[in-house]
Amino acid sequence: MKESIQKLFSLDGKVALVTGGNGGIGQGIARGLAGAGASIVIAARNEGKTAEAAKRIRKDFGVQVVELKVDVLQEAQIKNMVKQAVDKCGKIDILVNNSGIAIHKLPHMMSTEEWDRNINTNLRSVFIASNAVYPMMKKAGGGNIINIGSMFAVFGAGALPAYAASKGGIIQLTKSLAIAWAADKIRVNAVVPGFINTDLSAEGKRDIPVLEKIVNDRTPLGRWGEPEDCAGAAIFLASAASSFLTGVGLAVDGGYSVM
Ligand code: NDP
Repeated sequence: MKESIQKLFSLDGKVALVTGGNGGIGQGIARGLAGAGASIVIAARNEGKTAEAAKRIRKDFGVQVVELKVDVLQEAQIKNMVKQAVDKCGKIDILVNNSGIAIHKLPHMMSTEEWDRNINTNLRSVFIASNAVYPMMKKAGGGNIINIGSMFAVFGAGALPAYAASKGGIIQLTKSLAIAWAADKIRVNAVVPGFINTDLSAEGKRDIPVLEKIVNDRTPLGRWGEPEDCAGAAIFLASAASSFLTGVGLAVDGGYSVM
C-alpha cells in the first residue's frame, strides 16, 4: 500500500519546466517537483539567481537541473525556451507557468504600457508557452500544465488592476485549455496561492504596512504562506494522484478565500 501511494505521487523520469523557478513560489514548486523525482528546467531572466537556485536543487535532491534564460514578454524567447528544454532533456512532461509581476498603481495612475507589461507577463506568456508545448505533449500522449492564479483572481484589488485582471484571466484560460486539450490527455490546472512571503509580496507589504496583520487576522490558519507551502499542491497536480482532475484552481491559502 505504502509503495503504491508513493508511486501515485512519484515524478520519477518526468521533466518539469518552471518559469520563474529561480525564486519565490516558482522555486518552492521546482524544489517540490525535484523532491518527487522530476528533472527540472528553470527559466527566468536573472541568470545569477537561476544558477544559485539550480545549484541548491542539484545538491539537495540529486536531480538534473537545466538553466535557461528567458524573458516571457518576448514570444520568440518563450518558443526558444521550450525548444531548448526539449533539446536538453528530450521532452517536457510538466509545464509550470509561474513567472509573474504585480504593478502597484491605481487604475487612473496606470499607463497603458504598464497595463500591457503586467498582462503580458502574467497572462499572454501563459498562452504562448502552453501553445509552444502543446504539439510535443500531444505527440507524447499527454502532459501536465500548471498555471499560477491568485486570490485576486477572485477578489478585486484597487491598486492592482492589471494584476487582478491577469489572474482572473489565468483561471478562465486554465479552464479553456483543459477543455480544449482533454482529448489529448493534457491536463491543465492552477495553483491559486493566498498570501505567500516572496519578493513580490514584500512590495505589497512595503506599500501597505498593515497588510501583514490584515492577512494574518483573516486567514483561518493564522499566518502568511511560504513558497514551499505551494509544493505539495504542484506535486499533486503534476502526478498521477490527480489523474481525474483538470480545469481546477486549487487554493493554497490557509483558508483565506473561505473566510
Ligand atoms: P517573485 O517576485 O519572487 O518571483 C517572480 C518570478 O517571475 C521570478 O522568478 C522572476 O524571475 C520571474 N519573472 C518575472 N518577470 C519575468 C519575465 N519577464 N520573464 C521571465 N521571468 C520573469 O514572486 P512570487 O514568487 O510571489 O510570484 C510567482 C508567481 O506567483 C506569480 O505569478 C505571482 O503572481 C504568483 N502569486 C504570488 C503570490 C504571493 O503572495 N507572493 C500570491 C498569488 C500568486 P527573473 O526576475 O529572474 O526573471
